[in-house]
Amino acid sequence: MNDCIFCRIVRGEIPADVVARTDDAVAFRDLNPQAPVHVLVVPTRHLAAARDAAGDDGALLLGRTLQLATRVAGELGLDANGYRLVTNTGAEAGQSVFHLHVHLLGGRPMGWPPG
Ligand code: AMP
Repeated sequence: MNDCIFCRIVRGEIPADVVARTDDAVAFRDLNPQAPVHVLVVPTRHLAAARDAAGDDGALLLGRTLQLATRVAGELGLDANGYRLVTNTGAEAGQSVFHLHVHLLGGRPMGWPPG
């Protein structure tokens, strides 16, 4: 999608603090971090949200996106104390960028339920 901000980051058209990249997904630091580590992991292929990841293609895309998130968590030292992976889907969940993304949050204790 030409005007999607995360597609533009994937294509390198706008700057981002990229921490890891595969053929299938890109991980970069959130502009407005909510934890000491706050990384977004986005599939390189545009899908609006997790509910759009249908069929085998969608399963592969979700799996590879999550795999990159867990790899980055380990590389950033979060395995020992733990971390949270979140994907907001739709307006009521607070999704504001409509390109599927997983938030990787860590580096501080977290409450439950989330707000
Ligand atoms: P969500 O509200 O779940 O859709 O999350 C969108 C996230 O994208 C927010 O945490 C924003 O801070 C973050 N964000 C928006 N634009 C950028 C950008 N250009 N670079 C990095 N993070 C961004």
